[in-house]
Amino acid sequence: MTRRLLIEGGTVIGAASGRADMLVEDGIIRAIESKISAEDAERVDATGMIVAPGFVDTHRHLWQTGIRGVAADWSLVEYIRFIRLGFATAYRPEDVRIANEAGALEALDAGITTIADFCHIIRTPEHAEAGWDGLVSSGIRGQFHLGFYDVPTVPPYYRDHEARVIHARDFLRDKGGSGLVTGGVALTETNLIPMEHTADEIRVARDLDLPITMHMGTLSTPDAVARLHKAGLLGPRMLHVHCNASGDDELGLIADSGGAISITPETELQMGMGYPVTNRALAVGLAPTIGIDIVSDYSGDMFAQMRLLLQTARAIDNQKILDQRRMPPSIDLKVADAFRFATINGAEAMGLGSRIGSIDVGKQADFILVRQDGIHHMPRTPDTTASLVLQARPGDVDSVFVEGQARKRHGTLVGVDLERIRKSAQASSDYLLSAFEDAMQCTGSAATRSTYNAEVSRATSA
Ligand SMILES: [Zn+2]
Repeated sequence: MTRRLLIEGGTVIGAASGRADMLVEDGIIRAIESKISAEDAERVDATGMIVAPGFVDTHRHLWQTGIRGVAADWSLVEYIRFIRLGFATAYRPEDVRIANEAGALEALDAGITTIADFCHIIRTPEHAEAGWDGLVSSGIRGQFHLGFYDVPTVPPYYRDHEARVIHARDFLRDKGGSGLVTGGVALTETNLIPMEHTADEIRVARDLDLPITMHMGTLSTPDAVARLHKAGLLGPRMLHVHCNASGDDELGLIADSGGAISITPETELQMGMGYPVTNRALAVGLAPTIGIDIVSDYSGDMFAQMRLLLQTARAIDNQKILDQRRMPPSIDLKVADAFRFATINGAEAMGLGSRIGSIDVGKQADFILVRQDGIHHMPRTPDTTASLVLQARPGDVDSVFVEGQARKRHGTLVGVDLERIRKSAQASSDYLLSAFEDAMQCTGSAATRSTYNAEVSRATSA
């Protein structure tokens, strides 16, 4: 039997912008019209609310939900030292499971309906299973990018490159790709391994027709794009993250290869990675997307990141004119651009642009309802997109739907035992914090550790 949902009286942001009703049938948007009558449909009153596509987060390490906030004052060098070579070495499979579940629920709660999870905490095959399970149990739409990165202290059987490749291929083939969560691969940073190993990692994804994502163009991987290009490994379905230290020519190579880019403004601004490449990416024809990256540092909502990204890019544009001792007469980058970065651009970068990322007839019903009755919305901003991007807060997200299924209604997550999540997440965090000192003493995977230390000292002394 067809399940029909009628969202009534909201202000839709999309092709048919303005006050409208929206009819959803079996998870697909079937109609957007000023008035729809559908007697047998379940009714959702959206009066006074914005109806927007769910946000798309193109880069998140959900596993770091378990160590929320520890990196508040850290640079990238400290992050590498204390998390990649520290906390990461203490993670058990159960820590990954609860972090992925809690982190994805946090995302849903804040209106993010699709997430690219970069899971580079795969110390054992059990960690991979746990990460996948956690993501699936949240009910979010996601890509689980299995990380090849060799976390220090993994048991010897899993340290071997060949074993990692075999496991990744088997794991991703077995999981298939039909439900809300599908697979992908997250490459090891290219400076940590030989190029032929990078080629092996990429081959796993291409053999299985899966997407690829990787950290690119920070000071520890400054010429990664050029090196991949030289090795003949650049291509479509590759989501390049950060790229702050990549040259304009390298951004052009990404565009020419059909790749996409994920910008994570808050980590990049804080941690000494350089200015977000938004302006430079636009100049070469790339469509910026936004990643939240880590809640081990800051909050997991898209509202803050849209604002940081937009205003930083505006500041960069403005500075060029200020440097000529002139005042900028106008602003080129608009709130509608930031909104696109956080929705349809992200969907397209993840290969999902034909199915999600906008409110359009024929697309999956991944949408959010955003309240506008708080004191911070009085009086109402006339431009709905401006209201969503620059005035709204995560707490305004009243309802969240994924494929027409309610994940949040009236401000509360649906079908979620929050007390269980809270207890499990806290117990995991207590363990990880207590294990930190020991983890920092670990001597396992000396090769990885010394490579990183060499990179860190090079980057900090150059
Ligand atoms: Zn990252």
